[in-house]
Amino acid sequence: MEKQVQVPEFYGSMVFNDKVMRDKLPKEVYRALRKTIDSNQPLDLGMANSVAVAMKEWAVEHGATHYTHWFQPMTGFTAEKHDSFISPTGDGQVIMDFSGRELIRGEPDASSFPSGGLRATFEARGYTAWDPTSPAFIRDGTLYIPTAFCSYSGEALDKKTPLLRSMEALSKEAVKVLHLLGRGEVSTVSTTIGPEQEYFLVDKELCRKRKDLMFTGRTLLGAPAPKGQELEDHYFGSLKPRVSAFMHELDRELWKLGIPAKTKHNEVAPAQHELAPVFDTANVAVDHNQLTMEVMRKVADRHGLVCLLHEKPFEGINGSGKHNNWSMITSDGENLLYPGKTPAENTQFLVFLMAVIKAVDEYGDLMRMSVASAGNDHRLGGNEAPPAIVSIFLGDELTAVLRSIEEGTYFGDQQQVPLQTGAAVIPSFFKDNTDRNRTSPFAFTGNKFEFRMLGSSLSVSGPNVVLNTAVAEALRQFYDELKDTPAGEMDGAVHRLVKRAVQKHKRIIFNGNGYTDEWVAEAARRGLPNLTSTPDALPCMVEQKNIDLFLRHHIFTEGELRSRYVIALENYCKTLRVEGRTLVAMVRQEFLPAVRRTAKEVADCLQSQRQAMAGLPLEAQENLLARLSAGYASLSSQEKVLERDLEGACHIEDDLQAACYYRDTVLPDMAAVRSLADALERDLPDSALPYPNYEQLLFSV
Ligand code: ADP
Ligand code: MG
Repeated sequence: MEKQVQVPEFYGSMVFNDKVMRDKLPKEVYRALRKTIDSNQPLDLGMANSVAVAMKEWAVEHGATHYTHWFQPMTGFTAEKHDSFISPTGDGQVIMDFSGRELIRGEPDASSFPSGGLRATFEARGYTAWDPTSPAFIRDGTLYIPTAFCSYSGEALDKKTPLLRSMEALSKEAVKVLHLLGRGEVSTVSTTIGPEQEYFLVDKELCRKRKDLMFTGRTLLGAPAPKGQELEDHYFGSLKPRVSAFMHELDRELWKLGIPAKTKHNEVAPAQHELAPVFDTANVAVDHNQLTMEVMRKVADRHGLVCLLHEKPFEGINGSGKHNNWSMITSDGENLLYPGKTPAENTQFLVFLMAVIKAVDEYGDLMRMSVASAGNDHRLGGNEAPPAIVSIFLGDELTAVLRSIEEGTYFGDQQQVPLQTGAAVIPSFFKDNTDRNRTSPFAFTGNKFEFRMLGSSLSVSGPNVVLNTAVAEALRQFYDELKDTPAGEMDGAVHRLVKRAVQKHKRIIFNGNGYTDEWVAEAARRGLPNLTSTPDALPCMVEQKNIDLFLRHHIFTEGELRSRYVIALENYCKTLRVEGRTLVAMVRQEFLPAVRRTAKEVADCLQSQRQAMAGLPLEAQENLLARLSAGYASLSSQEKVLERDLEGACHIEDDLQAACYYRDTVLPDMAAVRSLADALERDLPDSALPYPNYEQLLFSV
């Protein structure tokens, strides 16, 4: 039946969106709520009661029996605790009830979420607080209410609160600058995000047979299949029927939830795909991306598939990232990073562009930190993702504009160049003034920046908190430099400011190939940090300059920052511990027994052939048996080394030391185990492995 319903009719049908609010809420309540959403004004309890009643009515009409506060604790996943609407009336009956208080605040016993020492279990009380700027929605017969999550004393325990704080900080500083530039009508500035999401799809039955995919989301063992991504035939290739069916259902599910899924295609690696939505304000886009990842997993399951969101599910082929497209938009709808036809003359554009460049140069360490995770360490610098060095790609035209400002030369308008295909039937159109540069971690792409270092499973909240706050700080400093300028002299003052900023921050601009060793050397000469691993990247969170930044803009208290630092270190260690243990289990309980069985088979075969006939040429089989036995011996001793070193980690008290130990000792142990096992796997018959190999995993859907 659903097939006949047109998309615009069911789009957002499960969302308590603006249209529903307008229909369902008394006028003054609607107006008050809009004000809260549009200009960060608090909403009073009376109004909230009225919203709660309307929300419940709408939810019940749509089949909901429960509601949940939906929040984003520091696990990086979302959390929910469901309550039904029922309220007994005392005569054995119930009514469906939901109050403003229940809408506004929840009190999950949240003692088991990571808090990095912010709370002890005896003061476990945590609150969830309604975020009216992100719309409520219905899933699985439950009304989901997006909420922030904080402790009894108001410390943020989640990923939403700091994001909202950072959006407000950026808005405040940007509005001040815009007013200076004569844009008095602008009341707020929002950040916008469009996250492009990469993922893998593998067959569920196959996936279930692998402990590593089940427990860690990535393969810890596995010799490469004869074919990988070298033919580049998967990228943008035609969709296989199962994948296409999955994508169709996924789009429909997302559309019902008001998530504007727009683009989908096959990615570079076999079994790898991508989805991109139309961009939205940062807070909504972050919620939507979390939801998208969850819906992907559930829809995949219905199609007999598993959606892998890990950054590096398979060795030897590309891993998955998430491109965070980012810009700023004024309350009257102007994109502040739109250069216009003549960027050289667009003063406002140049100020905001320079603010971003300054922010990235001064807080590149924090940006790198914001994408650090055990999973992402496999990608950054691996010739499939940008290096761990943060730099900016601006493209030829803008680079030339900035150079002419710096050198005081005239910048002539560049002519638009028509695209020549050489085929008369192809309609001609103008090329973009900048080509693409896939190797840059932070690229200007016409009217937005694309931050490309994010791992596929990451909540996009963290990187945007850093970006918003760093840009807010740059704008604050620009405001201070400009605020005493007489009105008629603003253009000249801005010009001088941009010139100083270009001189100071041009080292961060790099338009070349970021995948080369030359860039690594050049970046070092420029003094740009190259923080190659998570334990290298995390400590900058608690460096004084960065603590000062977050304190100044009220994004984090020092306690919140320190707790987040501890949580991130612990998460890194725990991830590697689980991976190490899983590898030990797979090798000992599955792989080595398979080698033993194969060796026995070869030995039996040799023996019977010898008995059957003297003088047969049996060296090849003898060599095989020798290789299997030698490989077995080395692998089993290497596996014991890994196990011993995993045990060793338990005795390290200091979190940073522990993280470094995992990186320097456990990871190399795992790599050694893997390389022995993968070499041995080539000598095993396909049928010998008790779990599917790379070939089956990557090419069976
Ligand atoms: P490209 O393919 O060149 O990377 P697209 O136009 O396909 O660019 O956009 C990629 C993502 O960037 C999409 O999610 C899109 O909605 C988003 N995007 C476009 N404009 C903006 C903007 N102003 N702010 C944030 N994201 C944006
Ligand atoms: Mg893109």
